[in-house]
Amino acid sequence: MTVESFLITGAALATGERADIRLEGGIIAEVGLIPDAAGATVVDADGLIALPGLVDLHTHLREPGYEQSETVLTGTRAAAAGGFTAVFAMANTSPVADTAGVVEQEASLGLAAGFATVQPIGAVTVGLKGEQLAELGAMARSRAAVRVFSDDGFCVFDPMLMRRALEYVKAFDGVIAQHAQEPRLTQGAQMNEGALSGELGLAGWPAVAEESIIARDVLLAEHVGSRLHVCHVSTAGSVEVIRWAKARGIDVTAEVTPHHLLLTEDLVSSYDPRYKVNPPLRRAEDVEALRAALADGTIDIVATDHAPHPVEAKQSEWDAAANGMVGLESALSVVHASVVANGLLDWADVARVLSAAPARIGRLRGQGEAIAAGAAPELTLYDPSASSEFGLERLAGRSVNSPYLGRTLPGRVVSTFHAGYATLLDGVVQPSDEVARHASAAGGDRG
Ligand SMILES: [Zn+2]
Repeated sequence: MTVESFLITGAALATGERADIRLEGGIIAEVGLIPDAAGATVVDADGLIALPGLVDLHTHLREPGYEQSETVLTGTRAAAAGGFTAVFAMANTSPVADTAGVVEQEASLGLAAGFATVQPIGAVTVGLKGEQLAELGAMARSRAAVRVFSDDGFCVFDPMLMRRALEYVKAFDGVIAQHAQEPRLTQGAQMNEGALSGELGLAGWPAVAEESIIARDVLLAEHVGSRLHVCHVSTAGSVEVIRWAKARGIDVTAEVTPHHLLLTEDLVSSYDPRYKVNPPLRRAEDVEALRAALADGTIDIVATDHAPHPVEAKQSEWDAAANGMVGLESALSVVHASVVANGLLDWADVARVLSAAPARIGRLRGQGEAIAAGAAPELTLYDPSASSEFGLERLAGRSVNSPYLGRTLPGRVVSTFHAGYATLLDGVVQPSDEVARHASAAGGDRG
């Protein structure tokens, strides 16, 4: 079977330079002024920015176990629609991804779907119960080659378990990705703790519940000389702790979600459960601190925390509604709106925080490479000039719990290329059977 080749013409690279890009033979074959490429499908990218394929370090794919919310197929289809070519799949599935068998199954489902590389995250503790370390070594040595471990959804609260996990993963250059939430301080919590939670009569979720765990964990990481990653940082105080830890030379990285860069707790006044998320939306001062931290490198990456839920889990009273928002399809536009439009980040920075750095933190090969001859054929074409109301037609996953529906957002992902093939072309997600056929012809999805 012949693998299709593409000639992308007139794209602006993240550096601002204009170039044609030829994808052929499972690599980016050529970048520059390319007069002609016989047999290639020509993609006109005039006015579009070519970014390396986006990499999400924090995606909930829900399969196995919660297929009414999302499957590996629908979640990676959402990834393609959002410009992502790789997603790290969180471990809170059913069964939990706490054994070599489950993580290998997850990776295989990703390969079969073909839309994006699915790199499984392993659970830190058995069943996410926080009682006993999972088989970290077996997951690392498995075909899924797990390097990121997380109990996300839950905090690894026991300091002794956290210490042992940090020590254990050093042997294979792994990292513990912590969902920093002191459980006792957040029992029954419904929104950010402050004046507004008092006014609305909702139980508060104090910033210190996040900040105290991060402070403890950076010290533990320093003590054992291991690598810590902090999930979805949401407060100005957390930024201060991480800034201090980095200045001290502690090996810590951190992520912020698109929604924590754009939305504030004021939206909770509507009692619309689309705005219910863990960690909660915070104050405008926190949003400002998170933006500044992303710009100055204190926060390393943007990760979506794509958390699909079926309609019935979100269309209920605020107290009963599930936490979480879908985020893959809107991520690039929200980053554009929150930190690019105001000049805090340029497109080269976007390529770093949404592609190169997450691939590096997760030790994922064949992703996050700058667009150049010889690099893996993973890229996305983005139209920065489009501005439109974010509608249901932009969502390509199974769930529709997006906080952006009805909101005007800048830009639009036009095309996505994964393993040298268009998974999204001219705004249309390509048929899954064709994508899967290509992925098997390409001999896998690692490019
Ligand atoms: Zn989390």
